[in-house]
Amino acid sequence: PGEPSAAPSSDGLSLRAVTKSFGGFHAVRSLDLDVPRGSFIALLGPSGCGKTTTLRMVAGLEVPTSGTITLAGQDITRLKPYQRPVNTVFQSYALFPHLDIFENVAFGLRRRKAKDVDATVRQMLDLVELGSQARKRPAQLSGGQQQRVALARALINNPEVLLLDEPLGALDLKLRRSMQVEIKRIQTDVGRTFVHVTHDQEEAMTMADTVAVMNAGVIEQMGAPAELYENPRSTFVANFLGQSNLIAGRVVSRSADVVTVDMHGIQVSVPAARSHTDGDGGWVGIRPEKVLIGEAGSQLDAPGNTIPGGVVSDVSFVGVSTQYLVRMPWGQELQVFSQNTGRTRIFETGDQVELSWRPEYAFLLDAAQDAS
Ligand code: ATP
Repeated sequence: PGEPSAAPSSDGLSLRAVTKSFGGFHAVRSLDLDVPRGSFIALLGPSGCGKTTTLRMVAGLEVPTSGTITLAGQDITRLKPYQRPVNTVFQSYALFPHLDIFENVAFGLRRRKAKDVDATVRQMLDLVELGSQARKRPAQLSGGQQQRVALARALINNPEVLLLDEPLGALDLKLRRSMQVEIKRIQTDVGRTFVHVTHDQEEAMTMADTVAVMNAGVIEQMGAPAELYENPRSTFVANFLGQSNLIAGRVVSRSADVVTVDMHGIQVSVPAARSHTDGDGGWVGIRPEKVLIGEAGSQLDAPGNTIPGGVVSDVSFVGVSTQYLVRMPWGQELQVFSQNTGRTRIFETGDQVELSWRPEYAFLLDAAQDAS
């Protein structure tokens, strides 16, 4: 193989040009990924995008068809699972039903004939806040508690990297939300590298420092949650991370930092993130919560792009906000989430409105990206 595309971080986890094929099908395609030591990364994507396969290669449960995986500078690509300092927590907790919580967690230590088993297990149970449950059997615990036991059992081996494969998938929504915060706290406490696989964008954004959005075996975009949310680089990422209004347009002109786009005869300004040339087709993206709604002709206060000619086609009041669908003159319905401050006017179906947003909140996506 030639020169790696970037120097692997010397103490973290690195994947270089990793491909996994099953027969002629490429589940993972020439993937490059660097996870600094002690960070929390989420692999996020729809079913079948290759995230579990990626995780399984790091665990040693699959061997890459080509490419290299290194951990702390050591090539682990072909090591057996038990030879690498990596542990996995699965969705099915796979606890031993006949052993109590303490012995479930102690299991790995006893097998290795480790010293100080009692103190180590106690400390780990305290970390996952199950100190008082040590003598119960798994069946006597809730799903969230059982998952914390599984976490403790994986962490007690002191792995360099902990892999989490949809660990919260079996829990109900409320429990899942509290476990997300809990796991994040535990990761911060132990300072280990966590790689978390999920198809739930909210989960990925809540827990991880860095989110890698995967699609069809490649990473489409990777970055801090807010960065991905504010500046998605493809319609796939824009739609996968929350909802976006995407309006077809064509670049009319550009300056150093602003691109003017014609959307169905209305010109709007969008920050120039990359080089766009006059005549290029693309999509103007704007998040529903960034759109202001006002009475037709009111010239909304917001200094920015104003789009007249909207008609409210649907209204849902959801407490903190009112969610509108607004039909635009070109036939498209745009979503608008309007904060309810108590002073904001609530519109009704059939009201004539105009929409507005600050130019810096919009993003411009190339039409060409949709081809992939
Ligand atoms: P999910 O969220 O559904 O688990 P995923 O993103 O984790 O999806 P993978 O499990 O990595 O996706 O699978 C990626 C693709 O590779 C899928 O199309 C899957 O059918 C295929 N695949 C995975 N494992 C095998 C295998 N052992 N043999 C053949 N094809 C496989």
